[in-house]
Amino acid sequence: MHLVWRLIEVRPSDMPDSTQWKLTKNGIFTMKSFYTDLINSGPLSRSLHIWKVKVPLRIKIFMWFVHKQVILTKDNLLKRRWAGNSRCCFCAQDEIIQHLFLECPLAKLLWRTIHIACNINPPVDIASLFGMWLAGVEQITATRIQIGICVLLWAIWNCRNDMIFNRQHNLTFLQVIFRATAWIRTWSLLTPMDSREPLVTGCNQWEMVARVIFTTGSDGVRITG
Ligand SMILES: [Zn+2]
Repeated sequence: MHLVWRLIEVRPSDMPDSTQWKLTKNGIFTMKSFYTDLINSGPLSRSLHIWKVKVPLRIKIFMWFVHKQVILTKDNLLKRRWAGNSRCCFCAQDEIIQHLFLECPLAKLLWRTIHIACNINPPVDIASLFGMWLAGVEQITATRIQIGICVLLWAIWNCRNDMIFNRQHNLTFLQVIFRATAWIRTWSLLTPMDSREPLVTGCNQWEMVARVIFTTGSDGVRITG
């Protein structure tokens, strides 16, 4: 995180070297000061909720990168003079953020399973995902949906990375969804006790729908590029 390193200043003295976190009075790093600076460092007012979702920090940062459209999808790599093929690893179209997370056949199928299991319509685009998509939804429900969406996008990103970097071409839709529901169950421990049950119930429904849709005989339907 270049931001972190930019914010840390090493002060030469006779004392042994030490680092100071400039965002707190006592010079000691706190997650709160880090969040506050990140939030205040750009026009993030409509996406403040990213930082409040009960998921691990690395997922919040991942979601913030998606929101800012700077995550290293192939279109962004090409802007950095990367010389690779821009093709999506799941289909024949170019890999851009909007495509990878919403419009790719893989993403559409995953969103479809969520629609059937939880009656949640997908957002029309990335801007609305972080904007007005959940406007009008009761706050407690929106909070749970946001956890699910973090997981969905993280699952797609992991699946994409497994295909590209680990040459893992035998993934099935069921594996991706079960990976996602395992994360939701683990991360549900970050939410208050009385809010965990609906998350677990949502996972069960999602898995049930996925089994019906993707199970063929004893094998799951494979994701092919
Ligand atoms: Zn695609």
